[in-house]
Amino acid sequence: MSLQKLWNLQKIRIMYEEVKEEYKNSPLLAEIKSLKAEIENADEEIKKLNQQVKETGKKARKCYQEEMEMEEKEGKLKERLYGGNILNPKELGRLQEKLAKLAEDKSRSADEYLELSILQEDLQEKINKLQEEVEDKKMQYAAALANFQSYKEECQEKLNQLAEKHKALKAEIDSKLIEKYKKMFERFGNTVIARMEGNRCSGCHMELSISLQDQVRKGESLVKCENCDRILYKGE
Ligand SMILES: [Zn+2]
Repeated sequence: MSLQKLWNLQKIRIMYEEVKEEYKNSPLLAEIKSLKAEIENADEEIKKLNQQVKETGKKARKCYQEEMEMEEKEGKLKERLYGGNILNPKELGRLQEKLAKLAEDKSRSADEYLELSILQEDLQEKINKLQEEVEDKKMQYAAALANFQSYKEECQEKLNQLAEKHKALKAEIDSKLIEKYKKMFERFGNTVIARMEGNRCSGCHMELSISLQDQVRKGESLVKCENCDRILYKGE
């Protein structure tokens, strides 16, 4: 009973899974994922900053408008105060107080306006810087993606070849043996067939009895490990 083909079939399957695993853990894939996340985060940040610029602009405009309104009021108040029509000192005092308060408010509003304008500029600068960074990252992403695409095609090609080999080899093996292998696969996965290494089973590493070792060497029948139940193969 030659187990070589079945052994090779198992090897092909292992290789197939290795290619898949390598693809999944590819640094190129990780790079793409991380660049994508960075771009998305930066875009999100830019969106937030733009919203802040908008709100700051709105506040600044409101401030400016208030300042203008106060200036108008101030003008009118001055007209009344210095127009010569009000002679009552108490009334004059009250108006002067009002004027002083208005000037104070106006100055506060002007300061606030200035602060908001500076804030708006700072925010805009931040946005511009981030946007430059995002552009760079997008270029990096495009390059990484192109690299990854060719790598992906390579992997796909390898997988296709292995799948074809597997199919062809399987057709050459006795169908009863394949059935047995399939059943055992559920339990052992890719270690259904274990090589006899020295006097041990490579599946469970237990020492095999002399008579079992002989049977495996002869290779006339299907021999299973006494300990783990895997099919034993004498090796290449
Ligand atoms: Zn074993």
